[in-house]
Amino acid sequence: MTGINIASEGVSAQQRVRDNLNQITPREPSSQRSIDEIRANIKSLLLRENAVIVAHYYTDPLIQAIAEETGGCVSDSLEMARFGRDHQASTLLVAGVKFMGETASILSPEKRILMPTLEATCSLDIGCPAEEFSQFCDKHSDRTVVVYANTSAAVKARADWVVTSSIALKVVEHLDQQGEKILWAPDKHLGSYVQRETGADVLMWDGACIVHEEFKAKALLDLKKVYPDAGVLVHPESPQSVVELADFVGSTSQIINAAEELPHRQFIVATDQGIFYKLQQRVPDKEFIVAPTAGNGASCRSCAMCPWMAMNGLDNLAAALDTGSNEIAVDRDLGRRAMKPLQRMLQFNGS
Ligand code: SF4
Repeated sequence: MTGINIASEGVSAQQRVRDNLNQITPREPSSQRSIDEIRANIKSLLLRENAVIVAHYYTDPLIQAIAEETGGCVSDSLEMARFGRDHQASTLLVAGVKFMGETASILSPEKRILMPTLEATCSLDIGCPAEEFSQFCDKHSDRTVVVYANTSAAVKARADWVVTSSIALKVVEHLDQQGEKILWAPDKHLGSYVQRETGADVLMWDGACIVHEEFKAKALLDLKKVYPDAGVLVHPESPQSVVELADFVGSTSQIINAAEELPHRQFIVATDQGIFYKLQQRVPDKEFIVAPTAGNGASCRSCAMCPWMAMNGLDNLAAALDTGSNEIAVDRDLGRRAMKPLQRMLQFNGS
């Protein structure tokens, strides 16, 4: 059988996502004066702690800027994992969401992993609890388990492969060519995109990214009328109706490369707005427009801006470095089991 089956286990998980969102308190922005002071403080703390900042494209531009200025990295989750693993610093300050800190800890168990906050999570991670997922895998033991990086260490430990959006297509294509049937988790939109592109037999968990799921095809078509020459860049965590309108579909790093390489002078971009910092830095002569979410007058909790990524700021980053708080520690045995599918991913991509 070739096709998509959506697991029903995700229904209660959607309520867990809503409950978590309701608990988030927006971070207060720092004043300009304190930003300068905090930046200076962070620079001296990085030296004192032999630390380096590993930041995601979706974090506050102030974090991305100081990561770059201090020899750290700003990238997607695959490159974050590689950079953290290979860097000589004894402390990694991971600015992003919790699974990124866990991945750093699994790949570099000898390093201290700190995060600005341990509360920053991800709807995909929340929506895929390890115990329910493990039962789902047990029911479908004939399938190769491929999980997205946006999952807990315990879910990764249950997987045969971990993938990021930048290599998901290649890995599933490879497995399909080996005649393997896939159990995919947790993002149904990315999984559906991978299934359509590869034709693989994919059984899917019912998870979604609350940021990308908000992008709307009808509003995007309306925006295209205002900017008829703009190219459309779409992250594959978006719904199929939005993906179908894209000139290019890819991961964050691939979207940045496409913005450089495609001939368009304007782009409508369907992913978290944090990426605009890097897009404008890398391609300063082009214009970038945020893809529409819920349309005029609608309210959404994540209008192209991840509420958990937004919990990272200069102030809590400095505090974590100063006090050693918010350390991520993954159980060693769990980490060893999660390491195997992670290593497969890193080796598959030629590292
Ligand atoms: S943008 Fe979506 S996938 Fe990324 S951390 Fe936020 S909720 Fe998770």
